[in-house]
Amino acid sequence: MTHSIAIIGGGFSGTALATALLRAGRGKFSIHLVEPRLELGLGIAYGGAEPWHILNVPADRMSPWPDEPLDFLDWARAHGPGLGWPQAASARAETYLPRRLFGHYIQARFEESRAQALASGGPAFIRYHDRVVGLKREADGFRLILGNGELAAHSVVLATGFATPGLPFPVEGRGPRLIVDPWAPGVLDRIQRDERVLIVGTGLSMVDMIYSLNARGHRGQITAISRHGLLSRVHGASEDIAPLLDEADAARGVVHALHRFRFAIRTGQADWRSAVDGLRPVIDRLWRALPPAEQDRFRRHLKAYWEVHRHRMPAESADLLLERHAKGQLRIEAERVEYVSVASDFVVLNRARRFGHLINCTPPAAPLGKAAGPLERGLLAAGLARPDRTGSGYDLAGDGTLLDASGQPVSGLVTLGPPRRGQAQETTAVPHIKPQLAALTQLLLSRAEHRFAAE
Ligand SMILES: Cc1cc2nc3c(=O)[nH]c(=O)nc-3n(C[C@H](O)[C@H](O)[C@H](O)COP(=O)(O)OP(=O)(O)OC[C@H]3O[C@@H](n4cnc5c(N)ncnc54)[C@H](O)[C@@H]3O)c2cc1C
Repeated sequence: MTHSIAIIGGGFSGTALATALLRAGRGKFSIHLVEPRLELGLGIAYGGAEPWHILNVPADRMSPWPDEPLDFLDWARAHGPGLGWPQAASARAETYLPRRLFGHYIQARFEESRAQALASGGPAFIRYHDRVVGLKREADGFRLILGNGELAAHSVVLATGFATPGLPFPVEGRGPRLIVDPWAPGVLDRIQRDERVLIVGTGLSMVDMIYSLNARGHRGQITAISRHGLLSRVHGASEDIAPLLDEADAARGVVHALHRFRFAIRTGQADWRSAVDGLRPVIDRLWRALPPAEQDRFRRHLKAYWEVHRHRMPAESADLLLERHAKGQLRIEAERVEYVSVASDFVVLNRARRFGHLINCTPPAAPLGKAAGPLERGLLAAGLARPDRTGSGYDLAGDGTLLDASGQPVSGLVTLGPPRRGQAQETTAVPHIKPQLAALTQLLLSRAEHRFAAE
């Protein structure tokens, strides 16, 4: 029987993995990809994007292929104009291109490799337009329970991205004035031009919402709140520098590492953007070197500040925010949401302030937490997964393999991208998923090879 690899989730991660396997394979295995959305390769980030939403990573860092770092940039220059983005023809390495264009690129590269594999006797590819609702371990692999049928596989990849947006605060009442999932099609269209809007969350999704409201002619006041009221900093020149911290600094704790880091910036050893970006290659090693109590300390006191320096917005986005702020149409505030009530004509925040609509832009929930779906609940119940120490994700082996309830790796059940959140600090954006993708492709190919040799 041919070795079969099932990929659960066909957003960027699942589709890029299928592409890499189709490119590398020699027909000794089959790929089964399960995705409930109609289109592959898009997920929330590129499927929900509107034409004015731009990537928050420059074009030269968005190729998922380590050997072809400029592949996206070259593709965008060649194909962007034909797809309605004439300015893509002159894109440079540091250009922030539209998110939708990136979605087209992933789809195009996937279709090419699928056609190539078909023509050259490469691996078979089968797509299931469905959702995985359960997973069982069997003697020779796994059985996936789909909404409509079942599927047996020797290796399984969880590329399920983030949980569907939920509300991390108490709400009384429901109704269209409460926009829980801001990426659902058409939800912003019902907001009136001069309505007061509350956005909960002040991260990059909030910036996207301001673009979308602006493009719909909205001129009312927008109030964006979060616990710290922090805004993402703005992209600017950043040089490649050696990391300013090492594992020994991390082992001495957060306060020491922070002092050292700030001292280096203050004394001109590096500007802050280069210093922050310079930690990128070692961030997971530093994280693992932090004692557990210090990891908790980082999450409580520093994470919010790290995120706004690390995940920056393009200058054009900052200009839009400044423009609305100058016109009195945008306020960013530090306030905790204690309680929200929803009436037919308005939404009330903390029993005090009224808004026409509330848009939820809070960070995604933990996969095994209260918002867990049937697949994740089933994995927990069957003892095939357990939460990591902090409860923010799965407990994983170094290569992304799930650890079962007793801490043993579940051989052949691997994660990719955001589901690695419990293990890695940086596992959501394309540049972070890229090395995982390359390593996982090799792991899956060697499992398939091994089995082929054994038969
Ligand atoms: C609004 C937004 C903007 C972003 N912008 C950028 C950017 O500019 N640059 C960047 O590098 N990164 C960006 N990111 C980060 C982004 O998460 C990654 O780039 C990438 O899209 C992650 O892809 P993924 O496939 O892992 O997850 P997702 O895109 O979330 O896809 C997961 C897929 O799994 C499917 N799925 C889930 N559960 C099941 C199940 N049980 N059965 C079957 N299928 C299932 C879902 O339907 C979904 O399609 C952005 C993220 C968001 C949310």
